[in-house]
Amino acid sequence: MSEQEFFHAGERVGVLTTQPLDRVLDYRAPEGGCFRGAYVEVPLGPRKVLGVIWGPGQGDFDSAKLRSVNRVLDVAPMREEMRQFLSRAADYTLTPMSSMLRLATRAPGLSDPVSMRKVLRRGLSEPERMTDARARVLAALEDYGGLAFTPKELSDLAGVTPSVVKGLVKQDALREEEAPRDLPYPHLDPELPGKTLTDDQAGAAAVLAAAVQSGAYGTTLLKGVTGSGKTEVYLEAVASCLRAGRQALVLLPEIALTAEFLTRVEARFGATPAEWHSGATMTERRRVWRMVGQGNAQLVIGARSSLFLPFQNLGLIIVDEEHDTSYKQEDGVLYNARDMAVLRAAMCSAQVVLASATPSLESWTNAEAGKYRRLDLTARFGAAVLPDMRAIDMRTEKLAPATWISPTLRSAMSKRLERGEQSLLFLNRRGFAPVTICRACGEQVACDHCDARMVEHRFQNRLMCHQCGETKPLPTVCPSCEVEGKMAPVGPGIERLGEEAASVFPDARIAVLSSDLFGSARALKERISEIAKGEADIILGTQLVAKGHNFPLLTLVGVIDADLGLQGSDLRAAERTFQLMRQVAGRAGRAEKPGEALLQSFQPEHPVIRAILSGDEEGFWKAEAAERQAAGVPPYGRMAGIILSGPDLAQVFDLGNALARNDGPLRSIGAQVYGPAPAPIARIRGRHRVRLLVKADKGVPLQDAISRWIAPCRLKGELRLNVDIDPQNF
Ligand code: ADP
Ligand code: ZN
Repeated sequence: MSEQEFFHAGERVGVLTTQPLDRVLDYRAPEGGCFRGAYVEVPLGPRKVLGVIWGPGQGDFDSAKLRSVNRVLDVAPMREEMRQFLSRAADYTLTPMSSMLRLATRAPGLSDPVSMRKVLRRGLSEPERMTDARARVLAALEDYGGLAFTPKELSDLAGVTPSVVKGLVKQDALREEEAPRDLPYPHLDPELPGKTLTDDQAGAAAVLAAAVQSGAYGTTLLKGVTGSGKTEVYLEAVASCLRAGRQALVLLPEIALTAEFLTRVEARFGATPAEWHSGATMTERRRVWRMVGQGNAQLVIGARSSLFLPFQNLGLIIVDEEHDTSYKQEDGVLYNARDMAVLRAAMCSAQVVLASATPSLESWTNAEAGKYRRLDLTARFGAAVLPDMRAIDMRTEKLAPATWISPTLRSAMSKRLERGEQSLLFLNRRGFAPVTICRACGEQVACDHCDARMVEHRFQNRLMCHQCGETKPLPTVCPSCEVEGKMAPVGPGIERLGEEAASVFPDARIAVLSSDLFGSARALKERISEIAKGEADIILGTQLVAKGHNFPLLTLVGVIDADLGLQGSDLRAAERTFQLMRQVAGRAGRAEKPGEALLQSFQPEHPVIRAILSGDEEGFWKAEAAERQAAGVPPYGRMAGIILSGPDLAQVFDLGNALARNDGPLRSIGAQVYGPAPAPIARIRGRHRVRLLVKADKGVPLQDAISRWIAPCRLKGELRLNVDIDPQNF
């Protein structure tokens, strides 16, 4: 199969479309012919739909009825390696190919012709008289090499009035021409001087550089405590990749992190790279997709879906904070971006770097087994040392009712205030109070559509369901016993903790960081950078603050409820709590000042809490690994979830029971099925959800058995079935 395979006009071709059909459809190649991989528009019934020339036609469709491809789109054809990646990803996640293609074509205006606009380039003449302003305009053009700009862009770039630019056009020092609307990204220069690396960092960077230069596939786990310079190290790997003339991709778990990151990239390479995430505007997305496809974006910083961009020559993928659970897409196509990054890289002979201070047990195990290379950075950069971590035993602390900041924590915070340093209180609960209860009858307000309590959000003055987002006003009368004035908040959310902090420290500047208190990602990013500059004394935050922000003045982290993640029966609870607590604590003492982390706990002798405090990571991972191995669960065994959902619970369960009874294909590979049982989220938006869990040994053809198992399933009415390979919760 050659990349250049060409189909002549009228020849039979197979087209994969974005429509939910489970097969490639036959068409006739359009006038002028087309290459394999070309993006095309084809007629389907009365509609025109997007598709890709997948290969020769199957030939089983009546030639007389065969329709022609309407037209070939004005974008570079999909590469062979991308087609392979999509098929392998579809096989792995048991997702229809059409859904994979939709993921890979999520760019607006893909089928529009390339639109043109008027731009300016250097003209043949010199300006009659050179002024400062004129010189700035010409210098700006020079700086950006081959790029051309609209008059407005150029005057903005040079910081001059539009009339200066107009004047230069009149004198033929600039000339107008037509150029495609989507601009290439400015050139990133890997030769600009980077930071001087420490010996440890330089050693790691050299290994990664050699790996990138090899031009072969490989995965490296880059493990290093927060602040050890992992980012500096992998930016050098990016530099090697750019030097080799290949494209690089950096995945970040959180868009709130990108602002700080882009600044660092710009400092290293002299220009900002392309950015891809759901918050980007349509124009930005369109530009990124097209430029990545033309090879005119050297580096993309993106969310997990950027793995599906049409890279021409991808040489390196960085997965930062690789343990982060948000890399698992839980909606639509269920995939783990970390695993897909490895697959994508294997298909195009690229290197992957998985960076984390607290790697996932999966990656840790793969490194132990020698499948991944492992690099360790053990010391924090410069004078920064890891924070001193201690537990506050809440059984012996005296707290007033409905308060959560212990006297010990409070006095540690006072010291910071006196010294002009920052404190961070961490509580992983959005809203004001997690429960609203009737003091007369004990009724708790629940969502009408989900199996979830409504959470009070005082800022919006409403109750909100965190599953489906539904809100309603705070009831004054109990919906159950109808007694008035007895509804009360129970327990702390981040907003309530903010009130407590304000009453304890009335003169302190307090910042509450929770995603739902900000109208936009941009507003949140701005607030974070203000805080980093010192515009707050006490920061209160949810999970959001655990992820990679640099607050140089922060020297104290207080965890309000370190036991929160340890409840429940999830086998991954210990791993998650360990990661989260170590990450949060790592926020303290990132600069010259040493930090302290205090964990409020009612069970400080719990093995997980003890491991967090002692920092004995290897010990913790080994104990966890032994437990998982004994239970035969990932990463030592394989699991898959089958989620069945529908409006009628009995019907959903019937289907689940029928599947559980007819488990022949699973038994043939020695796999067991558990359930049906209510799914971790048992009801959402009025749909009941039931889960079957499949457990198998490593190395068996699990996907194949599952597809044979569910194939006979007829989904009547609103019943739905979703396969979740490697579920997050088990
Ligand atoms: P990590 O990604 O491991 O958390 P970073 O790369 O963000 O660590 O480094 C932490 C801080 O230390 C950053 O502000 C970074 O710029 C600084 N730093 C790390 N290594 C160096 C170095 N070799 N020279 C100068 N500054 C460094
Ligand atoms: Zn709900």
